[in-house]
Amino acid sequence: RNLQSTTISNYKAKYGGRFMVTMLPGDGIGPEMMSYVKTIFKAGGVPVDFEELNLDSTHEDIEHIEEAVIAIRRNGVALKGNIETREHSRNFRSRNVELRLRLNLFANVIHCRSQPGINTRHKNIDIVLIRQNTEGEYSCLEHENVKGVVESLKIITQSKSEQIARYAFEYARKYNRKKVTAVHKANIMKLSDGLFLNTCSEIAKEYPEIMFDNIIIDNCSMQLVSNPHKFDVLLLPNLYGNILTNIACGLVGGPGITSGRNYGIEHAVFETGTRNTGKSVAGKNVANPLAMINASADLLEFLRLDYHATVIRNSIHKVLNIEKIHTPDLGGTYNTTDVVEFIMKDVQAQTSI
Ligand code: ATP
Repeated sequence: RNLQSTTISNYKAKYGGRFMVTMLPGDGIGPEMMSYVKTIFKAGGVPVDFEELNLDSTHEDIEHIEEAVIAIRRNGVALKGNIETREHSRNFRSRNVELRLRLNLFANVIHCRSQPGINTRHKNIDIVLIRQNTEGEYSCLEHENVKGVVESLKIITQSKSEQIARYAFEYARKYNRKKVTAVHKANIMKLSDGLFLNTCSEIAKEYPEIMFDNIIIDNCSMQLVSNPHKFDVLLLPNLYGNILTNIACGLVGGPGITSGRNYGIEHAVFETGTRNTGKSVAGKNVANPLAMINASADLLEFLRLDYHATVIRNSIHKVLNIEKIHTPDLGGTYNTTDVVEFIMKDVQAQTSI
């Protein structure tokens, strides 16, 4: 149900055969990555226009968030770079979290797959991580009771746990995955994680053809780095999801490869899997652009522009596994622009036949 509803927005902003997509470049390497996506889309004749909004960490006023939310609601879809969260006043919420909450982007989906051309400790990893994206520790409810004593509220609700669990099982069914594993710490957080786990177990009963099990977050972290092949689909509350998606992205090549998808009932936002700003590599022509280019291909698949998505994925495959045009994060010596130029020419070659 959730999987279907997220495709409603496919048709939200389509004018004269072209799609309008909101672009939020963000901070750090975000703006560079967006310019590469535009170059590649142009090379492939992709029928997408971008409405660009500069929502970055320099804008503290609420109007900018409002503008971005309105634009995404109108277009239904966005491509997003990460926005740096500075040490502002205590009440300043992360722009990234704010957007996810306002658009109710309840599901974060990250597919981590090994690439044969990348030298990693483990080969043939294929794990989908489905993370609750709007509650838990990210409810942004913290306060200081008396000096030296703070409370941070972790909100877990049955309705949102049900929503994400159903999403995970529907995903497993649609993509023929065999097993869903719920991750928790219900032995310590008996009420909150207990509710998440019990809700997942109840929903699992509606999907008897899909195996269901559960694992405690600490054991899961250990198993993920030592024996990742035992996992298929991981179903995660918010903070554990943040940590495990980064571990899983690291296992298959780091922050420069894997994309992340955020779905609400009516909107979808595409970004990199690890949500880094990459401030330290910005402007140096060394960042790996593939995570954002993969995110742009996710976006095209969502818009049902499958032909264009496949063309871009073919080029990414050649970069990683055939020509091995690897940037320094993958142990290579190529620049960002070497990768982009190869993809641009390859996309042109594929589409001009
Ligand atoms: P700092 O650690 O000072 O915050 P940063 O802003 O670059 O630096 P993150 O954005 O959290 O940190 O990124 C984590 C690490 O991943 C950094 O070492 C960064 O250089 C690296 N990184 C992030 N994105 C990419 C990318 N696309 N290509 C290569 N390295 C990347």
